[in-house]
Amino acid sequence: MRIDIATLFVEMCESVLNESIIGRARKNGFVEFCCHNIRDYTNDKHRRVDDTPYGGGKGMVMQADPIYKCYEDVCEKIGKKPYVIYMSPQGNVLTQQKCIALSKMDNVMLICGHYEGVDERVIEEIVDEEISIGDYVLTGGELPALVLCDSVARLCEGVLSGEECYEEESHFNGLLEYPQYTRPEVWKDRKVPEVLLSGHHKNINEWRQKQRLSRTLIKRPDMLKQYHFTKLDSKLYAQIEEEQKSNEMISK
Ligand code: SAM
Repeated sequence: MRIDIATLFVEMCESVLNESIIGRARKNGFVEFCCHNIRDYTNDKHRRVDDTPYGGGKGMVMQADPIYKCYEDVCEKIGKKPYVIYMSPQGNVLTQQKCIALSKMDNVMLICGHYEGVDERVIEEIVDEEISIGDYVLTGGELPALVLCDSVARLCEGVLSGEECYEEESHFNGLLEYPQYTRPEVWKDRKVPEVLLSGHHKNINEWRQKQRLSRTLIKRPDMLKQYHFTKLDSKLYAQIEEEQKSNEMISK
């Protein structure tokens, strides 16, 4: 997969994309990131890419043409139109399901806005989707773009050691992940749950699945409304409800 990023801050993007797991994946060719400085696509002698908004008001607006020229350059380089995403607080909020869908695409281009945003006409002309990383406003689209790059790239083949690394994680199939523990076995009088030391894989898996259900019920009950219960889930969920009831009785 190749992700092109149109930005005013190439170094900021490169510094994150060269680090850690994603940096390694990039070096090993499992995922390709190409950062483009939007200023390279302006004819302005001062390399300006913004101007005042029509209709008045505070702030500046990024001009359509440098972004469009950057898009044309990417199209030429990859030999086709990429799936173009404008990072925007007005977009669809990024979810794990969206990351999975994007990780299956060959070419994605991200546009990072700044100031008051970008001229609406370039969004109409080239953007396939607007994506937000949450209902709050940042100063620029770079951090959102990097969040998207990280969450999508880790799903690409070869980036993590296997699919099981992410398939059991929170949000992959509608539940949160079970709690994790590592050495030492006892820490500040808190012991690792006995079942995890038993070596009994069936019991461990069942315990973990029950933890996933109960954590989701406690932390994100909204997610359970969308979740498709298996037979085992229903059995475990009934146990959780029973345990909740008896805990309530004890506390009364
Ligand atoms: N005036 C815009 C509005 O009210 O919708 C906000 C512009 S914001 C200050 C500047 C840029 O940051 C945006 O063009 C966008 O690229 C990026 N941005 C800010 N918040 C974001 C979010 N929650 N998700 C994705 N991108 C965001």
